Amino acid sequence: MKNLPLLLSALLLFLIISCDNSTKEPEKLEYALCIHGGAGTILKKNMSPEREKEYFDKLDEALTVGDSVLKNGGSALDAVELTIHVLENSPLFNAGKGSVFTHSGKNELDASIMWGKDLNAGAVAGVGNIKNPISAARKVMENSEHVMLSGKGASIFAEQEGLTIVDSSYFFTESRWNYLQQILNKEREMKRTDRHGTVGCVAIDKEGNLAAGTSTGGMTNKRFGRIGDSPIIGAGTYANNKTCAVSCTGHGEYFIRLGIARDIASLMEYQNLSLDDATNIVLEKLNQINGLGGFIALDKYGKPAMKMNTSGMYRGYVNSKGIKEKYMYK
Ligand code: ASP
Repeated sequence: MKNLPLLLSALLLFLIISCDNSTKEPEKLEYALCIHGGAGTILKKNMSPEREKEYFDKLDEALTVGDSVLKNGGSALDAVELTIHVLENSPLFNAGKGSVFTHSGKNELDASIMWGKDLNAGAVAGVGNIKNPISAARKVMENSEHVMLSGKGASIFAEQEGLTIVDSSYFFTESRWNYLQQILNKEREMKRTDRHGTVGCVAIDKEGNLAAGTSTGGMTNKRFGRIGDSPIIGAGTYANNKTCAVSCTGHGEYFIRLGIARDIASLMEYQNLSLDDATNIVLEKLNQINGLGGFIALDKYGKPAMKMNTSGMYRGYVNSKGIKEKYMYK
């Protein structure tokens, strides 16, 4: 009994420490950036070592570009745009050069970008001659009074803004063309999981601003001017400094129906959930309606979430502590 005061003080100290931990803000990274190059059927057994290396090298190059923008004090928006350029300019991914073909053998590209500081956003949809659609999306955000421009109008605007316009043949790659022919030949047997490959990037800069961007060729064999989730703010892309930045990839129709990117941010904002909990809930909702795909996200502390319900997603993460990670399988 004579130890009672000692025991009580120890208990008090324990309570103070645990209470303090529960209210403590997580450590905030100086900056961080996450990328994806599409989710889908990505299996080690189907990947040659050379091909695997090509993907990892390109992911590495994109992460290096984003890292150096942020390290030098650049904005998350610049980091997202320039990182996505690397992926758009590579034929490995279904965005920019290397975009998939529509049913009628064309390339119709979609992209969007969002700035978490003021919730400003821009997007282009169904464009066929803008070399880097992510830059067109940014121009729409910064230099127009609209959020989304489509088709010819978007191209005219991009040209007026001084962006590089290319002949539509620039987007041609033999592998994507052959893939369309394959699908056209046996349309019914097509595996929907094999159609993805969009690119995206989310970043937080030294000022604590979040940005998100997504760019895609859409889905092979799409028809009738189909637009997916990638250029839709709230579906494929979302950023809000209060919560997180998100970029999605997968079967766009499902992402539109669930408003995936905005749903993650809303769960965090209205229910005070962590990024990890919010993304788990939303992935489960996607499972429930049999939607396939994945997303990358960063919270306001620079903590990442990279999740999918497919066998793989090309993805990577870099931060101010010198951590750099790249993955492709689940
Ligand atoms: N989400 C894109 C779309 O539906 C495709 C993809 O991510 O691969 O257009």
